[in-house]
Amino acid sequence: MKPRTGLIGWRGMVGSVLMERMATEGDFTRIEPVFFSESQPGEPGPCLDGLAAQPLEDATNLHLLAAMDIIICCQGSEFTRRIYPDLRAHGWQGHWIDASSALRMAEDSVIVLDPVNRAMIDRQLAAGTRTWSGGNCTVSLLLMALAGLLRQDWVEWISTMTYQAASGAGAVQIRALLQEMGHLHACVAHQLTDPAAALRDLEASASSWLAQRAASSPALVPLAANLIPYIGTARPTGQSDEEGKGQEEACRILGCPDAPLPVDGLCVRVGSLRCHAQAVTLRLKREVPLAELEACLAQAHPWLHLVPNEPDASRHQLTPAAVSGSLRIAVGRVRQMTLGPRYLTLFTLGDQLLWGAAEPLRRQLGILLERT
Ligand code: NAP
Repeated sequence: MKPRTGLIGWRGMVGSVLMERMATEGDFTRIEPVFFSESQPGEPGPCLDGLAAQPLEDATNLHLLAAMDIIICCQGSEFTRRIYPDLRAHGWQGHWIDASSALRMAEDSVIVLDPVNRAMIDRQLAAGTRTWSGGNCTVSLLLMALAGLLRQDWVEWISTMTYQAASGAGAVQIRALLQEMGHLHACVAHQLTDPAAALRDLEASASSWLAQRAASSPALVPLAANLIPYIGTARPTGQSDEEGKGQEEACRILGCPDAPLPVDGLCVRVGSLRCHAQAVTLRLKREVPLAELEACLAQAHPWLHLVPNEPDASRHQLTPAAVSGSLRIAVGRVRQMTLGPRYLTLFTLGDQLLWGAAEPLRRQLGILLERT
């Protein structure tokens, strides 16, 4: 019998990418899907290949949720915190796979990133774990990029400076970014048609619009022609919450809470759409030849794409435009730093809605299905 699998949050940004991937990989043929909604119960659900749309079930109805063998929830932390404890208190024993941060640090939950921590997932599954969380997008992408070096236990510490996409801040930020791009163009469109127009005038018109926009909407700082060097709330350490998750979640995924791998850096929001990039500096525990480091990075898993540290390759293969929408984890600009032979730098990027969000959840469903 196919497991009854509830999907909550499938309309959202992460959920819709998950739906797309599940359809592409034929996952829906392996489960009996039941679609839930918090705001639209009773409305028609999605049309799956060859099946009529079923009405959406109420995502807050514990009785209905308790009839599921597996639930995949991409609805957000607030929903998970409100519904999940009551569902467990109700005696529900099914598998809960969650996109949010709500359960990531819970004792009985595992952060899933199977190309990196499959052995831990298998161990915990055998031990009876039934709660699985997707990791923070930046952390998952960083670990996917460095998987080879981490597996060798070559890394002493990591500092990562991020360039995070608008999609990480939700659909509102993407819409705002695209609108800002349109407005910016509109305010200089006429001047752009004149090849003799002074560049200083073009820049002044665009900058003046940007300044007005920033002043008029303090809650939504513009991202077009701009960046935001703070993501999330503040911590007493001076880190932003996003920065604090780096070490916490990396160590949890790698299973090294007693001998933490130091990870720290600055997280910055930029105007790319759905690819997070990171400029990484790391110190190695010992000197390793560059060719060996590159081979180790490249062979970590099938999605890793090592880009030669050359101008053309970097400009064309190591950009959000090249990687967006694909499962590739691009790693390039790899070189030993002039700081010393044990200091390595590299640049990496990946689609934060795929490996950063939906794909680990989809693959965890696959791991559970292997066992049923
Ligand atoms: P989202 O796009 O805001 O969607 C969440 C829910 O909002 C939907 O499931 C839907 O629920 C409701 N909704 C209301 N109006 C909608 C509309 N017009 N279109 C689509 N949905 C609408 O949330 P998200 O960005 O996918 O994030 C979900 C969770 O994943 C969060 O906990 C987030 O932190 C985590 N996460 C996000 C990312 C990311 O890049 N965004 C990455 C990793 C993890 P109903 O159908 O019930 O109304």
